[in-house]
Amino acid sequence: TGGSVWEVDCKVLEGGNRLVSLYDLSERVSVAKSHADFVANASHELRTPLANVIGYVETLMNPKAGGNEELRNRFLGTIRHEAQRMQSLISDLMSLSRIEALKHEVPADNVDLVALANEVAGDFRANAVVNVTANCAHAVIAGDRGQIQQVLRNLIDNALKYGKPEGPVHVSVEAAQTAWVLVMVRDEGEGIAPEHLPRVTERFYRADASRSRAAGGTGLGLSIVKHIVERHRGRFDIESRPGSGTSCSLMLPLRED
Ligand code: ADP
Repeated sequence: TGGSVWEVDCKVLEGGNRLVSLYDLSERVSVAKSHADFVANASHELRTPLANVIGYVETLMNPKAGGNEELRNRFLGTIRHEAQRMQSLISDLMSLSRIEALKHEVPADNVDLVALANEVAGDFRANAVVNVTANCAHAVIAGDRGQIQQVLRNLIDNALKYGKPEGPVHVSVEAAQTAWVLVMVRDEGEGIAPEHLPRVTERFYRADASRSRAAGGTGLGLSIVKHIVERHRGRFDIESRPGSGTSCSLMLPLRED
């Protein structure tokens, strides 16, 4: 019932009694299906830019089109853009598989979220306004520094991609009296419609696929964020009001001294 998959095993015991065993295989079948869907989606995402690259290269190899300098430069620009799309996708796929491989290891670097938020925000400041506020000088968690950096980068990158490209983006770090720290990344962009909101952390899910692709998105950013936060025994939430902005928050356990 309800898509369940069962295996039935029946043994005849001494004396003629029968032992019937029922095994619920639903979980295993659904994991296998989601794995197959993932591979199919990833292949599809790679195939499109690759087909474009091949198409443009073949056109350039044609002496008539290849001889036109302006056309050549335009096509080379497109080839570079498509190649960069494949590069971003491969790098996100590798991040996902690394997170998966490390999922049973407890991350143990001392990561100060106040310092890291300032550092990551600083990397974006050449092109955008990214404000950082904190209610404490330090908020240290036991974590994987590279992964937490990736979380902040993905969230700020999204805030600029789907908000206003020049910002402002507001990052806040609040360590509570309890053992938790709350990090929020808020933008004043277009927001996410309620029908998309519950699904945006799924792999390859996008509210607007062509917009995401044009902005260089892979559809994997938020699923990477969610995986990393779960590996750190934290919580990830998104709240959004269409027309006025999106707020992504991470709750992470502070390091116990
Ligand atoms: P992508 O590579 O497409 O940005 P993500 O997993 O990072 O993939 O995000 C999934 C989708 O969620 C995006 O395609 C976009 O539709 C939506 N989204 C994510 N962050 C924001 C935001 N700050 N404002 C509006 N929409 C967002």
